[in-house]
This record gives sequence, structure tokens and C-alpha cells, in this order.
Amino acid sequence: MFWHQEIETLHRPALDALQLERLRETVRRLERVPFYRGKFLKTGIQPEDIKSAADIRRLPFTTAADLRENYPDGLLAVAREEVLRLHTSSGTTGKPKALFFSRRDVDTAAELIARAVCMTGVTRRDVFQNMMSYGLFTGGLVMHYGAEKVGCLVIPAGPGTSERQLLLMQDFRTTVIHILPSYALYFADFLEKKGIDPRKNLALRKAFVGAEPHTEETRRKIEEALGLDVYNSYGLTEMNGPGVAFECEGKCGMHLWEDNFVLEIIHPATGEPVDDGQTGELVLTSINREAMPLLRYRTRDLTSIIPGPCACGRTHRRIHRITGRSDDMLIVRGVNIFPQQIERVLMAMPQIGRNYVIQLEGLDDMTVKVELSPAGFDGEVGHLTELQNQVAEKLRAEIWIRPKVELVACGSLPVAEGKAKRVIDKRSL
Ligand code: ADP
Ligand code: ZN
Repeated sequence: MFWHQEIETLHRPALDALQLERLRETVRRLERVPFYRGKFLKTGIQPEDIKSAADIRRLPFTTAADLRENYPDGLLAVAREEVLRLHTSSGTTGKPKALFFSRRDVDTAAELIARAVCMTGVTRRDVFQNMMSYGLFTGGLVMHYGAEKVGCLVIPAGPGTSERQLLLMQDFRTTVIHILPSYALYFADFLEKKGIDPRKNLALRKAFVGAEPHTEETRRKIEEALGLDVYNSYGLTEMNGPGVAFECEGKCGMHLWEDNFVLEIIHPATGEPVDDGQTGELVLTSINREAMPLLRYRTRDLTSIIPGPCACGRTHRRIHRITGRSDDMLIVRGVNIFPQQIERVLMAMPQIGRNYVIQLEGLDDMTVKVELSPAGFDGEVGHLTELQNQVAEKLRAEIWIRPKVELVACGSLPVAEGKAKRVIDKRSL
């Protein structure tokens, strides 16, 4: 199902031409922003110099630090009265990153979500419960308006307590949820403990899951536990929030809306492009924004382009699920480790539950604390030790070091209000 079939299946040469035209227009727009004007003057680049897709490499990168340094409104490209909405991204330390939307930007963001919603087979007959936080975080409002555009009944549940979420699901027969993967796992435990079988007692059929890294194994675990189809949803505040890239019903990578974003994958250290299929850092240029377009934004998210056409007929290229953030990488005893590698191992083991945390202490000691699944412990302590060793061995095979493994009771690890915090680094390095 298509929201805007013509643009979603636009013949590739026409899509490339549209990108180029919008890129030039964006550079023209950015000549008004002192930060970019300074950079253009330095290299002497003019909008007319952008003649082919490869010319994007003549434009400067923008980083998260640039956004912070220009906080609050240094990168605004329109007059203040043109601005309709502000979102910020959390930012763990110091100033947040602020992003502005014009009226057209608000509408475009909803449009991109509407495409994503339809692409997964959701229609106006669906009841859409948005379990993401409303407010400065984009996961609430941006997704909300997109689902409303399609005509779903949208329930702005926010990240309320699980009891309340369940009540809404039961009373209004919710069919689609938008939820953090970490919360989906927690919520599945909650239902299990209450003796609720989602397949029998609820009307859920689809979940949009995103905003934090997760693995294919986690998707499968959520699908099994909640009895629904899970679609991967990727976005970031700097590029509108959710709706940048989204899976179609094929669930084989996320279509990135190339009429709105120019996509590059670069080697994080050299900045040079990598080949299709190779993993690198995703760099995005917003070419259809008015209030605050960004050139070659370094997302720090690691992914690759999936070569070849998709069976659904959409011509916008697909990216692989995010395998980590370049700044998420842990170096433990000289070995590079991504938390997702650990998650992949844990979530593939049926005896293992749905919550875990990676703790780093002392000089370089790694402990993986993980919950048992509700049926994972039969009361035999010997079996527990055996399982602990099994987990440690499987992790060693994946990450090359053997961490200490602590098995804890289901539901005993803390659950964050927003995005999960999987790594606690207390090393005295
Ligand atoms: P913050 O940078 O503070 O987390 P955002 O809410 O803008 O703020 O989060 C965007 C980031 O969330 C992305 O850059 C990416 O790292 C992560 N993210 C979003 N969607 C996904 C997804 N589907 N898979 C993996 N990571 C995701
Ligand atoms: Zn597709």
C-alpha cells in the first residue's frame, strides 16, 4: 500500500534529478546562515557548482558539535516568525541540539510518516497507540501527526505506566503501537506476569519500533512475545525525527526517503565514501527543509546500503538496520565491542530474559547482568551455573573476551523512562 505512489516509486533518473535540484536550492537557502556562508566562502563553492550527485562531496560536513555551538538558533535559515515548532534531542551532557520546523516542515515530516505507516499495511481503520514520550522528543508529536494524516485513531498514550497502556489497549482495541524496543521487551514481561496472552486478549497486529539500537534477534523476541509484526523505524531529531527510513512489509532493510534526504555512507575516520554493502557512518543532507536544513550531517550511526531493488517497487534505497553508533563502541582490553553484539547473543537464547546491562569496572572488567526468562530457572542451582557458563562462552565467541555473567531474576533490572541505558562505564582508566 502506498501513501504517495508516484513519488515512492519515482523512476531513478527522475529521483536523482529531483535530489540535485533540491540540493542546489538548499545550498542557496543556506547562504543566509553565517555558519554555512563562512564555509562556502572558504571553499568558493556556489549552488551552480553542484552538477552531479558526487559534487555533494565538495560541501562541508556538519557535526553534532556544530549544532551545539550554534545553539539555540544560529543555524536557523528563515526569519523567526516563520518557525512553527521546536524539538530538541536529549543530549547526555551540556546543551541539547535544537531543531526548528516551518509550517511546511511540520507538514513534510507528517507526510514522510504517512508514507511509512501505509507502507506497513496500516490504514485509517487502525487504532494507533503512541507509547513514545511527547514533548521535546520527536517520537511523540512527529509520529502522532503522521498517523493522524493517514486517518488512524491516534491515542497519545506517551510513556505512561504499563497498567495504563494495557487499559487503553483493551478498551480501545489498539491495533498498532509505536514503542521503544527496550520498553516492548519490558511490556511483554509485564503482560506475561499478568497472565495476558496478547494473541487472545488484545487486538495488536503491528509495532513500529525505533529510536534506539536493537538487533534482529530482539525483533524476533518482541514479535513472538507480543504476537505482532515489528517494523524498524529510523530517524533522528536533526532530520525531523522519526520517518527518515522505515521498513516496508518485506522487512528487508529500511527505505530512506531520498526525495527528502541525500544519503552517503562514509568511512568514519577518513570521511571517504565506502562501497555499497560496506558498513560505515551514515551521513544525511536534508534537501526538503525550510527552517533548518543541514548539510552532510554526521549521524555517527553505522549502517550500509542494501544494493538492488526491493520487491515492493519503491525506488528509494534501503539501509541495513543500525548496527551501532560510532561513539557507542567500547574498547575493553584492547578489543572493540559494540553493545549490539552482546544483545544479539543474549536475545537468541530462550532461557534468557529481555533486560540486560553491561557494566565496566576497575581497569577493564566487564560484567553482563542479564535477566532470566520467566521460565528460565527450574530451581536447580547447578543448572544456573551451567547456563551462566554457556552465556559467557557464547559471548566470548562473539566479542573475543569472556565477560563475567550474572543471571538475575526476571524484572529485577531497572527500566529507564526513555531510551534504555545499556552500558554503565565506571572504569578507572
Ligand atoms: P539522541 O541523539 O539524544 O538519542 P534522537 O532522539 O534524535 O536523540 O535520537 C536519534 C538517534 O537514535 C539516532 O541517531 C540513532 O542513533 C538512534 N536511533 C533512532 N532510530 C533507530 C533505529 N531504528 N535503530 C537504531 N538506532 C536508532
Ligand atoms: Zn520495499
